Amino acid sequence: MMNVNDYIKQHIRTVADWPQAGIQFRDITPLLQDPKVFRVLIDIFLARYANAKLDLIAGLDARGFILGSVVAYELNLGFVPIRKKGKLPFTTVSEQYELEYGSATVELHTDACKSGDRVLLIDDLIATGGTMMAGKKLLERLGATVIEGAVIVDLPELGGSKLIEESGLPVFKVCDFAGH
Ligand code: AMP
Repeated sequence: MMNVNDYIKQHIRTVADWPQAGIQFRDITPLLQDPKVFRVLIDIFLARYANAKLDLIAGLDARGFILGSVVAYELNLGFVPIRKKGKLPFTTVSEQYELEYGSATVELHTDACKSGDRVLLIDDLIATGGTMMAGKKLLERLGATVIEGAVIVDLPELGGSKLIEESGLPVFKVCDFAGH
Protein backbone atom coordinates (compact mmCIF):
# COMPACT_ATOMS: atom_id res chain seq x y z
CA MET A 1 0.00 0.00 0.00
CA MET A 2 1.20 3.49 -0.89
CA ASN A 3 2.01 5.81 2.01
CA VAL A 4 0.00 8.98 2.40
CA ASN A 5 2.91 11.27 1.47
CA ASP A 6 3.36 9.50 -1.89
CA TYR A 7 -0.40 9.66 -2.46
CA ILE A 8 -0.27 13.46 -2.06
CA LYS A 9 2.89 13.75 -4.15
CA GLN A 10 1.24 11.86 -7.02
CA HIS A 11 -1.36 14.61 -7.28
CA ILE A 12 1.11 17.47 -7.68
CA ARG A 13 1.74 18.42 -11.30
CA THR A 14 5.14 19.56 -12.49
CA VAL A 15 5.11 22.28 -15.16
CA ALA A 16 8.54 22.77 -16.74
CA ASP A 17 9.90 26.26 -17.49
CA TRP A 18 7.13 28.19 -15.72
CA PRO A 19 6.97 31.10 -14.87
CA GLN A 20 10.40 31.24 -16.52
CA ALA A 21 12.99 28.96 -18.15
CA GLY A 22 14.69 26.59 -15.73
CA ILE A 23 11.93 26.59 -13.10
CA GLN A 24 10.05 23.35 -12.47
CA PHE A 25 6.77 24.68 -11.13
CA ARG A 26 5.12 22.31 -8.62
CA ASP A 27 1.42 22.90 -9.23
CA ILE A 28 -0.93 21.89 -6.38
CA THR A 29 -4.19 22.65 -8.23
CA PRO A 30 -4.82 18.97 -9.19
CA LEU A 31 -4.54 18.12 -5.49
CA LEU A 32 -7.05 20.80 -4.45
CA GLN A 33 -9.43 19.85 -7.25
CA ASP A 34 -9.88 16.26 -6.10
CA PRO A 35 -12.08 16.25 -2.97
CA LYS A 36 -10.66 13.00 -1.63
CA VAL A 37 -7.04 14.08 -1.99
CA PHE A 38 -7.77 17.54 -0.61
CA ARG A 39 -9.36 15.96 2.47
CA VAL A 40 -6.41 13.60 3.00
CA LEU A 41 -4.05 16.56 2.77
CA ILE A 42 -5.98 18.68 5.29
CA ASP A 43 -6.26 15.68 7.64
CA ILE A 44 -2.47 15.34 7.67
CA PHE A 45 -2.22 18.89 9.04
CA LEU A 46 -5.11 18.43 11.47
CA ALA A 47 -3.54 15.30 12.95
CA ARG A 48 -0.23 17.05 13.40
CA TYR A 49 -1.55 20.25 14.99
CA ALA A 50 -4.72 19.17 16.84
CA ASN A 51 -2.93 19.26 20.21
CA ALA A 52 -0.30 21.88 19.45
CA LYS A 53 -1.97 24.56 21.62
CA LEU A 54 -1.92 27.07 18.78
CA ASP A 55 -3.47 30.54 19.00
CA LEU A 56 -3.46 31.39 15.30
CA ILE A 57 -2.66 30.26 11.78
CA ALA A 58 -0.75 32.60 9.44
CA GLY A 59 -0.86 31.87 5.70
CA LEU A 60 1.59 33.06 3.06
CA ASP A 61 0.29 34.71 -0.14
CA ALA A 62 -1.36 33.10 -2.03
CA ARG A 63 -1.53 29.31 -1.87
CA GLY A 64 -0.85 29.41 1.86
CA PHE A 65 -4.26 31.09 2.18
CA ILE A 66 -6.09 28.12 0.63
CA LEU A 67 -4.45 25.60 2.91
CA GLY A 68 -4.10 27.74 6.02
CA SER A 69 -7.67 28.96 6.19
CA VAL A 70 -9.11 25.44 5.99
CA VAL A 71 -6.74 24.20 8.71
CA ALA A 72 -7.58 27.24 10.88
CA TYR A 73 -11.33 26.67 10.49
CA GLU A 74 -11.06 22.99 11.37
CA LEU A 75 -8.89 23.69 14.44
CA ASN A 76 -11.19 26.50 15.59
CA LEU A 77 -8.46 29.09 15.20
CA GLY A 78 -8.28 32.49 13.58
CA PHE A 79 -6.43 33.01 10.30
CA VAL A 80 -4.18 35.93 9.32
CA PRO A 81 -2.84 36.57 5.81
CA ILE A 82 0.75 37.57 5.12
CA ARG A 83 0.36 39.40 1.82
CA LYS A 84 2.47 40.69 -1.01
CA LYS A 85 3.21 44.41 -0.79
CA GLY A 86 0.38 46.88 -1.22
CA LYS A 87 -2.57 44.55 -0.61
CA LEU A 88 -3.32 45.07 3.08
CA PRO A 89 -5.38 48.20 3.87
CA PHE A 90 -4.52 48.81 7.55
CA THR A 91 -1.12 49.67 9.08
CA THR A 92 1.47 47.00 8.36
CA VAL A 93 4.94 45.72 9.16
CA SER A 94 6.94 44.68 6.07
CA GLU A 95 9.95 42.57 5.11
CA GLN A 96 11.84 42.46 1.82
CA TYR A 97 13.52 39.24 0.65
CA GLU A 98 14.95 37.40 -2.38
CA LEU A 99 12.85 34.80 -4.25
CA GLU A 100 13.84 31.82 -6.39
CA TYR A 101 12.72 34.12 -9.21
CA GLY A 102 13.06 37.84 -8.37
CA SER A 103 12.66 39.78 -5.13
CA ALA A 104 9.57 40.59 -3.10
CA THR A 105 8.12 42.27 -0.04
CA VAL A 106 5.53 40.76 2.28
CA GLU A 107 3.36 42.57 4.79
CA LEU A 108 1.30 41.80 7.87
CA HIS A 109 -1.28 43.93 9.67
CA THR A 110 0.13 45.29 12.93
CA ASP A 111 -2.89 43.94 14.85
CA ALA A 112 -2.70 40.48 13.23
CA CYS A 113 -1.39 38.88 16.41
CA LYS A 114 -0.46 39.73 19.97
CA SER A 115 2.73 39.28 21.92
CA GLY A 116 3.06 35.67 23.11
CA ASP A 117 0.69 34.15 20.50
CA ARG A 118 1.69 30.67 19.32
CA VAL A 119 1.43 30.78 15.55
CA LEU A 120 1.67 28.12 12.85
CA LEU A 121 2.98 29.48 9.54
CA ILE A 122 1.66 27.76 6.39
CA ASP A 123 2.55 27.87 2.70
CA ASP A 124 2.34 25.44 -0.21
CA LEU A 125 6.07 25.15 -0.87
CA ILE A 126 9.57 26.01 0.36
CA ALA A 127 12.14 26.76 -2.35
CA THR A 128 14.94 29.11 -1.20
CA GLY A 129 13.09 29.68 2.07
CA GLY A 130 12.98 33.47 1.68
CA THR A 131 9.20 33.77 1.82
CA MET A 132 8.82 31.72 4.97
CA MET A 133 11.76 33.44 6.69
CA ALA A 134 10.20 36.83 5.92
CA GLY A 135 6.85 35.64 7.30
CA LYS A 136 8.52 34.38 10.46
CA LYS A 137 10.27 37.74 10.95
CA LEU A 138 6.99 39.67 10.56
CA LEU A 139 5.22 37.55 13.16
CA GLU A 140 8.17 37.80 15.53
CA ARG A 141 8.27 41.58 15.12
CA LEU A 142 4.75 41.59 16.60
CA GLY A 143 5.93 39.43 19.50
CA ALA A 144 4.48 36.10 18.36
CA THR A 145 6.19 32.73 18.74
CA VAL A 146 6.19 30.82 15.45
CA ILE A 147 6.06 27.17 16.45
CA GLU A 148 6.52 25.56 13.02
CA GLY A 149 6.55 26.26 9.30
CA ALA A 150 4.32 23.80 7.45
CA VAL A 151 4.20 23.14 3.70
CA ILE A 152 3.02 20.53 1.24
CA VAL A 153 6.26 20.55 -0.77
CA ASP A 154 9.91 21.05 0.08
CA LEU A 155 12.61 21.46 -2.58
CA PRO A 156 15.56 20.33 -0.41
CA GLU A 157 18.24 20.98 -3.03
CA LEU A 158 17.52 24.72 -2.84
CA GLY A 159 18.44 24.67 0.84
CA GLY A 160 15.47 26.71 2.08
CA SER A 161 14.15 24.27 4.66
CA LYS A 162 17.68 23.79 6.05
CA LEU A 163 18.09 27.56 6.36
CA ILE A 164 14.74 27.89 8.13
CA GLU A 165 15.55 25.07 10.55
CA GLU A 166 18.96 26.60 11.25
CA SER A 167 17.17 29.84 12.18
CA GLY A 168 15.37 27.86 14.90
CA LEU A 169 12.02 27.27 13.18
CA PRO A 170 11.09 23.57 12.74
CA VAL A 171 9.76 22.68 9.26
CA PHE A 172 7.01 20.17 8.52
CA LYS A 173 6.59 19.05 4.91
CA VAL A 174 4.32 16.45 3.36
CA CYS A 175 6.65 15.62 0.46
CA ASP A 176 9.95 16.46 -1.24
CA PHE A 177 10.86 16.98 -4.87
CA ALA A 178 14.41 16.58 -6.13
CA GLY A 179 15.88 19.45 -8.17
CA HIS A 180 14.39 22.92 -8.49
P1 AMP B 1 10.95 30.69 -1.62
O1 AMP B 1 10.74 31.99 -0.95
O2 AMP B 1 12.09 30.69 -2.58
O3 AMP B 1 11.05 29.54 -0.62
O4 AMP B 1 9.69 30.42 -2.52
C1 AMP B 1 8.51 29.93 -2.00
C2 AMP B 1 7.31 30.64 -2.53
O5 AMP B 1 7.37 30.79 -3.95
C3 AMP B 1 6.06 29.86 -2.23
O6 AMP B 1 5.03 30.79 -1.87
C4 AMP B 1 5.74 29.12 -3.51
O7 AMP B 1 4.37 29.14 -3.78
C5 AMP B 1 6.52 29.85 -4.60
N1 AMP B 1 7.42 28.97 -5.38
C6 AMP B 1 8.77 29.09 -5.47
N2 AMP B 1 9.29 28.14 -6.25
C7 AMP B 1 8.26 27.38 -6.67
C8 AMP B 1 8.15 26.21 -7.50
N3 AMP B 1 9.24 25.64 -8.06
N4 AMP B 1 6.93 25.67 -7.69
C9 AMP B 1 5.84 26.23 -7.11
N5 AMP B 1 5.87 27.32 -6.34
C10 AMP B 1 7.05 27.91 -6.11
